[in-house]
Amino acid sequence: MANVRLENVCKIYKGGVRAVTDFSLDVKDGEFVVFVGPSGCGKSTTLRMIAGLESITSGNVFIGGKYMNDLEPKDRSIAMVFQNYALYPHLSVYENIAYPLRCHHVKGEEIDKRVKDSAAILGIMEYLQRKPKELSGGQRQRVALGRAIVRQPQVFLLDEPLSNLDAKLRVQMRAEISKLHEKLGATFIYVTHDQTEAMTMGDRIVVMKDGFIQQVDTPTNLYKHPANVFVATFLGSPQMNVFRGELRKKKEDVSFYSEGDSAFSVPLNPLLLGQLENDSFPLKTKLGVRPSDVTLSETGGIAKAKIELLEKLGDQTLVYSHLSGREDYLIATVNGENDFRAGQEVSVSFRKGKLHLFDGKSEESLTEGKPLCFLDNANGYYLSLTQMETLEKRLIEKGRSSKILAVPTAAISLAKANGDDLVLSLALDCQRDYGGRSVWFCHETLSGKGVSFSLPSLEKAKDPSLPFQAFVQLKDIELIDEGTKTKLTDVEPLSAPTSKGELSFRRGGCFMEGDGRINHEKTYIVKRINRLGATDLLILEGSKSKEKLAYLVPDSALIYVSMLVLFRKKIHAKKGD
Ligand code: ADP
Repeated sequence: MANVRLENVCKIYKGGVRAVTDFSLDVKDGEFVVFVGPSGCGKSTTLRMIAGLESITSGNVFIGGKYMNDLEPKDRSIAMVFQNYALYPHLSVYENIAYPLRCHHVKGEEIDKRVKDSAAILGIMEYLQRKPKELSGGQRQRVALGRAIVRQPQVFLLDEPLSNLDAKLRVQMRAEISKLHEKLGATFIYVTHDQTEAMTMGDRIVVMKDGFIQQVDTPTNLYKHPANVFVATFLGSPQMNVFRGELRKKKEDVSFYSEGDSAFSVPLNPLLLGQLENDSFPLKTKLGVRPSDVTLSETGGIAKAKIELLEKLGDQTLVYSHLSGREDYLIATVNGENDFRAGQEVSVSFRKGKLHLFDGKSEESLTEGKPLCFLDNANGYYLSLTQMETLEKRLIEKGRSSKILAVPTAAISLAKANGDDLVLSLALDCQRDYGGRSVWFCHETLSGKGVSFSLPSLEKAKDPSLPFQAFVQLKDIELIDEGTKTKLTDVEPLSAPTSKGELSFRRGGCFMEGDGRINHEKTYIVKRINRLGATDLLILEGSKSKEKLAYLVPDSALIYVSMLVLFRKKIHAKKGD
């Protein structure tokens, strides 16, 4: 058996048609990888370059570690199965399957054994003496597969093998090909334009568009974490609803506002958008929500909509209506036993935590690939008492505590750095590459909780069946308020108790009016700002005394540190001052 490696593979056809650009992929030994994308996106061309049926304009192909670019198809230890299964009509099923072996001058006894073994695997023993015209479409496709199996190739390349079959047979053959893959344990690369085929068959899916790879991942991860609007809308049926609009930030609250008349808004968890700088707002954005994550009710919700059409599918009903920001219908899937009717006005809501945000221009995801991970420290599950004590020294307001730990993904590493590192026991689900770094999607072995982090791509992948340890430095962990999802900890132990204050900018400088310090006339310098959510934590240092003070102020609007702050008695600022 063999792995398949493509390095920066490009294909430009005569006449300048650029069919495939910079295609790099590692298909593991025994893996079932599906290439999916709309017609003309370069799937077949890529497969044919692996097979040696098409020359490679630039880049390298390796099979089983061997350089393949210059080898003839027959020397590549691959077998191809096409949509058009091209059986020889004048030969029996037996002879059709035996044909490639006869071409390779295999001995008669060996041929007989291999043909019968292949026929047994595919359940076509009883048809061996029939001619192709005496077979059904499904049986003929099995013979074509038999002709591939009999050669005992290391890699199977299948190009839309089921598209000539009717819908029912396709479903049946889908399952049979998956079973065949399991039985043979060989590497399978399968091309289809059908997203259902891709989702049901692939260990991993390569989504392609216009000759470029869009995303490579497991079916579940592609569905849950699409990297861009194309992937989000290509996979999943009915399609994801996508709204045009913008993200706006008011103080620390971020909301999506749809475009057009009767705009609606959706509040978002700002932690999801941690990587967006304040000056990015307002930001043209597309909001995606899957039909199964749209709920319809009589009251509440983010907007009202009139039902225009219902499609009853039995256990499910598709409800079509309109919302601003989307020219097309808003589709919601609801339980088949519902009382909705056309013309009815309903309240629309989107399920929390199920929203997808994409940049309005590039259409790349604003949230995927850079997640924070949250761990529930109920009953000291992750942190020991001493670790907790260390963390509590960073608590901004004494006495407040939370079970939720926020772990920035960049803080997770595979090497222990300090004695008090937090240890996570993880199992790898999949990896996704982003130019030089790869994001590891794992789950925590005891709780099953998803944990993801990124490492340089060079880091060797772990065996998915074996748990491994990852480490997080205690200094990188923060406590998060369970309810409001705001930060409760500072990045350093706090040397002074926190006071509450308010900043005002007046002629002559920046003034702090703070409780307990109203008589100060001293000047301080802002040494550090920690934005916590709705408030900012300012660490101030006395200009002369070097005394440290910690102040919580609502949305300070300070954008730089080392700013001079003067303490004043309560000042009653006039409007417009
Ligand atoms: P897919 O398999 O995804 O439908 P293909 O790999 O067949 O796509 O085609 C990718 C692009 O290359 C398309 O634009 C197609 O028209 C073009 N193409 C395919 N084969 C040839 C060829 N022999 N000569 C020129 N252009 C081709």
